[in-house]
Amino acid sequence: MSTHEYSRIVSLNFSPETSGQPMMYNLAKLFDLTFSILQANINPRQEGHLILELSGTPERYQQGVAYLQEHGIKVTPVANQISRNEESCMHCGLCTALCPSKALLVNPETRLVDFDHDKCIACNRCVVVCPVHAMQVEVNQSTW
Ligand code: SF4
Ligand code: SF4
Repeated sequence: MSTHEYSRIVSLNFSPETSGQPMMYNLAKLFDLTFSILQANINPRQEGHLILELSGTPERYQQGVAYLQEHGIKVTPVANQISRNEESCMHCGLCTALCPSKALLVNPETRLVDFDHDKCIACNRCVVVCPVHAMQVEVNQSTW
């Protein structure tokens, strides 16, 4: 982890024009970033949506994100997309069974459901399943 101490999960949206370009290859080659794809979708209009974990130095990470944005790719940090209304959550645990990244887990000591933003891949499953609508989608791109 010494050279890759910085890691963030981001969501990328590609237009049909950019989805065919070797952006991921360039990201690794030009900026020495490593990535792992957590989720990938492409819709019938050839617009792509990727969720990936990007790792590298903070400086390289910023440069890589700027590179993607310059090439018309919308980059959103996933940690900003899903939040939990702490007053509404009744800690029923329903969401923990569906969360693919273990961002929502029952704490064995407190028996409360802990939410770890940094592990969330914004799959929206908890948003759909929560009976009291405590899990919410936010549109906030302020924090990198
Ligand atoms: S499903 Fe909703 S109410 Fe239940 S633990 Fe998850 S966030 Fe809380
Ligand atoms: S959106 Fe909800 S279910 Fe999906 S990874 Fe994030 S916390 Fe887990």
